[in-house]
Amino acid sequence: MDVPTYTAADAPVPEGTIVVERASTPQDLGPKLNRTAADVVRFLMQQGEMVTATQSLSDDMIELFAAEVGAEIRLVDPGEEQEVELLKLLEVDEEVDDDTYESWPHRPPVITIMGHVDHGKTKLLDYIRDANVVAGEAGGITQHIGAYQVVKDGRAITFLDTPGHAAFTEMRARGAEATDIVVLVVAADDGVMPQTMEAIDHAKAAEVPIVVAINKMDRENANPDRVMQQLSEHELVPESWGGDTVMVPLSALTGDGVDDLLDNLLVVAEVEDLRATDDGRAQGVVLESHLDIGRGPVATVLVQRGTLKIGEPVVAGGSWGRVRALIDDTGVNVTEAGPSMPVQVLGLADVSSAGDRFVVAPDEKTASKVAETREHWRRQAALGREAHAMAGGAKLEDIFKQIQAGEAANLALIVKADVNGSLEAVTESLRKLERDDVRLSFVSRGVGGITESDIQLAAVSNATIIGFNVRPDRKARELAEAEQVEIRTYEIIYKLLEDIEAAMLGLLAPEYEEVVTGEAEVREVFRVPRIGAVAGCYVTNGTITRNSPVRFLRDGTIIWKGTVSSLRRFKDDVREVASGFECGIGLSDFQDLKQGDIIETYEEREIPRT
Ligand code: GDP
Repeated sequence: MDVPTYTAADAPVPEGTIVVERASTPQDLGPKLNRTAADVVRFLMQQGEMVTATQSLSDDMIELFAAEVGAEIRLVDPGEEQEVELLKLLEVDEEVDDDTYESWPHRPPVITIMGHVDHGKTKLLDYIRDANVVAGEAGGITQHIGAYQVVKDGRAITFLDTPGHAAFTEMRARGAEATDIVVLVVAADDGVMPQTMEAIDHAKAAEVPIVVAINKMDRENANPDRVMQQLSEHELVPESWGGDTVMVPLSALTGDGVDDLLDNLLVVAEVEDLRATDDGRAQGVVLESHLDIGRGPVATVLVQRGTLKIGEPVVAGGSWGRVRALIDDTGVNVTEAGPSMPVQVLGLADVSSAGDRFVVAPDEKTASKVAETREHWRRQAALGREAHAMAGGAKLEDIFKQIQAGEAANLALIVKADVNGSLEAVTESLRKLERDDVRLSFVSRGVGGITESDIQLAAVSNATIIGFNVRPDRKARELAEAEQVEIRTYEIIYKLLEDIEAAMLGLLAPEYEEVVTGEAEVREVFRVPRIGAVAGCYVTNGTITRNSPVRFLRDGTIIWKGTVSSLRRFKDDVREVASGFECGIGLSDFQDLKQGDIIETYEEREIPRT
């Protein structure tokens, strides 16, 4: 018999673009490209990647293999292709032609308030709600459901509770366009700040018009001209200066100017020509969702089209159910909700996520099928992200090697800081260090001490952990050692930047490791005449030595640094106290210790570079 035989290794690959799902395993990928799983594993092994046939692959690995065999592929998220089918099942028509749109009635605009911390977002939201909410049967008792609607001169406006900028973009990334207009709050006495700029970026990326509220006009040092000047530098030029950005001076405290803001929002809404039909099955987006003891999963949804009614089968992302009750923002039970109306939905089987699409299904069977299929693909996608994280970036010490090798280096970082402000400042400054050949990726950023979960994340993503005014606790430190995760802690921003810059130049200065020599837990704090406050402690680890540098930690955050001024066991002054014993530690000028705080002594040792 003369059957042409070829080994899998030289079989022709299928022609045209092959759709490959992210996080495919060699077992999925091989056959799609006329190869075996073993071919994929063998090839990746040659590239130094140890994978098994059933392990999820990163995007890079998939692309590398496709290039090797000469196949043209398109990577899609798991479920992306299926989602199109699911929407067909739900009979959702995405496209609306102009004539149909024009035939629909106007709908209330949906507003999100953004701006720098402390500039008055919450105050403004509260003021508008209190002054304008229609007092319903509940006697005007408002309920916080994540959004509310007010009526001004007979026209409704919907406000979404400020979700934070990241949440806004996260929703958008998931295809949920909930916001029609962004109100940018800038305090007249403070001016444009980093998060003001961030808000502008987010709003611009979303292609949403911005209306500026120049807040805190009641303050003596309010300077609206300066705010306008600064905003003009960011392409937001006030109408009074010939630009096209509406800017309204107001005070969320006294309420002066707030009406003017609402009027302007209605004008902008008019220009935007926002319309929706209230006919047909409702569609919308989940704004917030939580589990309520007693009521079960509760989701606040924003209806964007159609009318949502009690008893209907609904799907929200990967969960579904029959609407058992609808509650509006004044706490009143309603039977239906139309376009731009936020409403709490009871009856879903699970908690869904903000940004999930919300659709009334033709019937219950379709609803459950869609939800289950999505749930399946979601789990797949989560696996993919893990695989991706594992492929990760480079560590600080390796970064220069990569640059030298002509590779575009990617420095993966996890940043933890004591407060939001410093977290933002550290991130901003780090971003400025980016160059063409060195990119930074922030695997995660957060406020609080460095925890075991940070170390785990760093280990899988090959990231370096940067702590600003925070420290790892003992468990985290031990895990970091075991996993060889590098933790660098700083208390001064420029020191941090200097280090990272040096690493990029291959000049990483000798690293001083702070070796923790002793750890004691504060049991109680008492006052001793002439000595002042003394902490009664129990030494849990190592040895506490007099005169050694010390820091006090509360929940992993450094609250004080100095030296141990006095150390006592019972009434005697001692030089050191070992683990397992109680002692009194003098707090010199620091009086604010509490039970449960940790006193840590340490010494600096130079780590030899390899
Ligand atoms: P957010 O962080 O942007 O939500 O800011 P908040 O709404 O919490 O406001 C921060 C602080 O500024 C609070 O103490 C408010 O009472 C105060 N504040 C907000 N708006 C005004 C205002 O118009 N005038 C004055 N004097 N204080 C305000």
